[in-house]
Amino acid sequence: MPTQNIVAIKQAHTDHIVEQAPQRFRVFTARQLDRIEPLKRLSAQQRFDMQVVASVLPFRVNEYVINELIDWDAVPDDPIFQLTFPQRDMLDPAHFEQVAEALRGGDKGTIKQAIDDVRAALNPHPAGQLEKNIPQLDGETVEGIQHKYRETVLFFPSSGQVCHTYCTFCFRWAQFVGDKDLQIAAKESGQLQDYLRAHPEVTDVLITGGDPLVMKTRNLRAYIEPLLSEEFSHIRTIRIGSKALTFWPQRFVTDADADDLLALFREIQATGKHMALMAHYNHWRELEPAIAREAIRRVRATGAQIRAQGPLLAHINDDADVWARLWQTQVELGIVPYYMFVERDTGARRYFEVPLVKAWQIYRDAMQRVSGIARTARGPSMSANPGKVEIQGVTEINGEKIIALRMIQGRNPDWVQRPFFARYNDEATWLNHLEPAFGENAFFFDQD
Ligand SMILES: *Cc1c(COP(=O)(O)O)cnc(C)c1O
Repeated sequence: MPTQNIVAIKQAHTDHIVEQAPQRFRVFTARQLDRIEPLKRLSAQQRFDMQVVASVLPFRVNEYVINELIDWDAVPDDPIFQLTFPQRDMLDPAHFEQVAEALRGGDKGTIKQAIDDVRAALNPHPAGQLEKNIPQLDGETVEGIQHKYRETVLFFPSSGQVCHTYCTFCFRWAQFVGDKDLQIAAKESGQLQDYLRAHPEVTDVLITGGDPLVMKTRNLRAYIEPLLSEEFSHIRTIRIGSKALTFWPQRFVTDADADDLLALFREIQATGKHMALMAHYNHWRELEPAIAREAIRRVRATGAQIRAQGPLLAHINDDADVWARLWQTQVELGIVPYYMFVERDTGARRYFEVPLVKAWQIYRDAMQRVSGIARTARGPSMSANPGKVEIQGVTEINGEKIIALRMIQGRNPDWVQRPFFARYNDEATWLNHLEPAFGENAFFFDQD
């Protein structure tokens, strides 16, 4: 077929996607669970269970996810359903009963108390996020910034502190339950600029949330444009952490300011900086809809790089085939697999956690099923207090069975790439469950 025809067909296909996409979409929160049409197939008990969990953990889902991503015939096992809808076992049975009892009683004060108690027990800010990563400038704390690893500053713009849909396993769940004390957010970008001026060692700014792409391009631009001026020439990469490619690909295709967003990506790169969209994927299904592929194509056409990361989760993707297909599909669509994370020690982790040894086996099996091109995801990686810790594998040294680990990011830059060893433990799901191998009493980062 002549190239022109192929181009014409592609264009017609794109136009079709654009015409078909709804311009407006409904979003449902915990209060509107009973208005979600396909949920009506579930039993009253199942719906009450959802209500209980959704009053503790954040819940928000849009029509695109409901209509395009979830296979309702496969519910409740459907991975995207598990990824977005609350399940009873996400709460410890005693916690569940405490909240269910309060809801049945109907007393507002009791309900609030029960919810607050349970949330407080779920480790709302893991890995010292509130105490250890919040930087100071001229003796004052800087709102809405985290700076843990030397090269990279995280920025949380206040208007980007929601998502198009919430993930049930989210480690930032505390950001979304409306408690201001638990929130990290910057009202304006002046402090970010002051901080970056004072820190020439920073090369990357990662705009995160929530999802910064819930913002209008105009507002996002107001944060980014100042960083493109000469005085911030030390900032080499602008990263945007987002799940919009999964939860609202229309953001890049049919939204009124979609083209303006893509123009912003081009402007960033015109200054010689790298523009990285840090996409969050958990399942290859998220990459299937035509509009999701069109969104990826459009982002890539700006020259921006899409890198993919996401946690390994029971009930969603604890399967090597799922990861192999996810990575392979990403490569075919021009996305670089970047990180496989371990589910963090917060929120609904009891439901999603996978033992570290099993996580490593899944990672290894998945790696063996793809070529080197698709083996770029590092992991399984724990974002723990001292840094990002990668499980390298299980082996035996001098007759002792051990887990080999490596620090891939460190609170102290000197820790980066240091290998270390833990005693074999096939139940451990987090770094603090591990003990040093070879009879040592502490890991190197505990001694420093
Ligand atoms: C993961 C992470 C980063 C980015 O790390 P990279 O390895 O450069 O992608 C930055 N800050 C924090 C707090 C992180 O957890």
